[in-house]
Amino acid sequence: MRHFDYIIIGGGCAGLSLAYRITNEAALKQCRVLIIEPESKTRNDRTWCFWGTDAGLFSPVVRHRWTNITIAGSEFSRTADIEPYHYFFIRGIDFYQHIQAFLAANPRIEILRAPADRWDANDTQAMVWANGETFTANYVFTSAPTGSAGQVLAPLHQYFKGWFIETESPVFTADTATLMDFNVAQPDLGLHFMYVLPFSSTRALVEFTTFSSQLLPDETFNQALEKYITDNLQVDQYRITDTEQGAIPMGLPAKSAVAGTSRIIPIGGQGGAIKPTTGYAFWRIQEQTQQITAQLAQNRWPSGEIGHPRRFAWYDQLLLDILVKEGQPARIFKRLFQHNPYPRILKFLDEGTTPWEEVKIFAQLPLWPFLRAWKRQYAPKPSSSRQALPATPKIQHL
Ligand SMILES: Cc1cc2nc3c(=O)[nH]c(=O)nc-3n(C[C@H](O)[C@H](O)[C@H](O)COP(=O)(O)OP(=O)(O)OC[C@H]3O[C@@H](n4cnc5c(N)ncnc54)[C@H](O)[C@@H]3O)c2cc1C
Repeated sequence: MRHFDYIIIGGGCAGLSLAYRITNEAALKQCRVLIIEPESKTRNDRTWCFWGTDAGLFSPVVRHRWTNITIAGSEFSRTADIEPYHYFFIRGIDFYQHIQAFLAANPRIEILRAPADRWDANDTQAMVWANGETFTANYVFTSAPTGSAGQVLAPLHQYFKGWFIETESPVFTADTATLMDFNVAQPDLGLHFMYVLPFSSTRALVEFTTFSSQLLPDETFNQALEKYITDNLQVDQYRITDTEQGAIPMGLPAKSAVAGTSRIIPIGGQGGAIKPTTGYAFWRIQEQTQQITAQLAQNRWPSGEIGHPRRFAWYDQLLLDILVKEGQPARIFKRLFQHNPYPRILKFLDEGTTPWEEVKIFAQLPLWPFLRAWKRQYAPKPSSSRQALPATPKIQHL
């Protein structure tokens, strides 16, 4: 039985971020860390975007950054500067290789290329069983799906498929990312929009996204992408150089997913790091792993809880309820982006706004959907009509 200070189950975004931060922390230089990850991570299995004033530790792997964003709908289209923020783009493969190369130079970090079969903890230590061996540690941090991480308000996923395309003639404005283009209306779908990240005047990622309770057929994504490129972008000649596809669960994590009372601490998507109403997680994972590293350095019990004010979880709960029960809240997004400076909205989505800034944001939104959601969530109901919450959907890799 081999003992480590920390075992990290899952060497994806959260696991590698945590290992990287622990290795960079002077107070933890002597710690021995085992990462258990079955995949070799030699494939570009995803790309990450996030906004911030700088890209922090990951500046060396930022491939592209945008200074303007566009939100477009049938009644409005607005492109604006997001100063002081940038919208950053990182390729998964660059992130994995950068961190793995850094960790390989440290003899105190070991990587086991196998799945963890089981993990458990008692009062004094945590145990992990993998590859026919038993390992012990002071703490285990896990981003591996367990199916018991928590419960969510809504059985909703953000499903998306994107094409990296190259066009023959110049089409795109390379400093402007389109976060949501609602000019793709399909009557039977829930909230859906196109997302366009141009890397030059002739290269871009064009992605079709839906917020839905079920995965749509692949053909629906392909047709939507083809139609948008041909009709909206007015491009006939293009080449698809790569694709990206995924599903991100949208729901509120239960307290059990984040509370730091056990020696097993869920991190990343399993640890409540996905923003329930947007699906963004990269920057929240950085906040989470930075906080855990600081707690370990101060010899405190680590907690995966992202310490943002509780009112943001409440806002998320109401918006999720509207998304699930009222179908098409595109109007809310349009009003949000039409009437507020973009940096204020990004700060709000980062859960960093003051209550006064939030009043200014809410003043622009339609009131009734939120009142109806509040009533559905909080008005007293006969116990027989209460609905059991479904189990956390896992991130599906399509
Ligand atoms: C295609 C895609 C694009 C995304 N784009 C963005 C974006 O642009 N911006 C953003 O903020 N968020 C994005 N997200 C959401 C989120 O940032 C990512 O899902 C992120 O990778 C979550 O990090 P994680 O560490 O929790 O999970 P992962 O990165 O998936 O890591 C989990 C790891 O656990 C490993 N594992 C599984 N089972 C076991 C086991 N039994 N033992 C050991 N290891 C195991 C897996 O192999 C995997 O490497 C995206 C998600 C997807 C799927």
